[in-house]
Amino acid sequence: MMTMGTRKTNTNKRIPLRMCITCHQTMHKRQMIRLVRDVDGSVQFDSSGKKSGRGAYICQSIECWHNVFKNNRLEHALKTSITNYNREQLVKSKDELLDEN
Ligand SMILES: [Zn+2]
Repeated sequence: MMTMGTRKTNTNKRIPLRMCITCHQTMHKRQMIRLVRDVDGSVQFDSSGKKSGRGAYICQSIECWHNVFKNNRLEHALKTSITNYNREQLVKSKDELLDEN
C-alpha cells in the first residue's frame, strides 16, 4: 500500500486540540492563546489556560488577531460585548504576546 507520505499523526492523540475562532484551524492547545470572559463580562487573556468561564482560542497568526477585533468574532464566541477600553487592553497585551513576530 502506498501512503505517499500522508501519515496520520496518531501519536498526537493525547494532546488537546483547539480551534481558532477566526481561521478555524485546529492546533495544539499550547500553541494557542486563550481568552476568557470574566464574571463582569470583560475579556481577559488566560496565559495559564486554567481560568474558568467561557473561553475562546485564537492562534498566533497576526491576521487572525486583526480579524478577531474587526468582525466582533470574539464577542460572538464569548457571548459578551467588549468595551473600547477592554479592546484596547487586549490589543496591547496581544502585541506583547506576539512579540516575536
Ligand atoms: Zn487563526
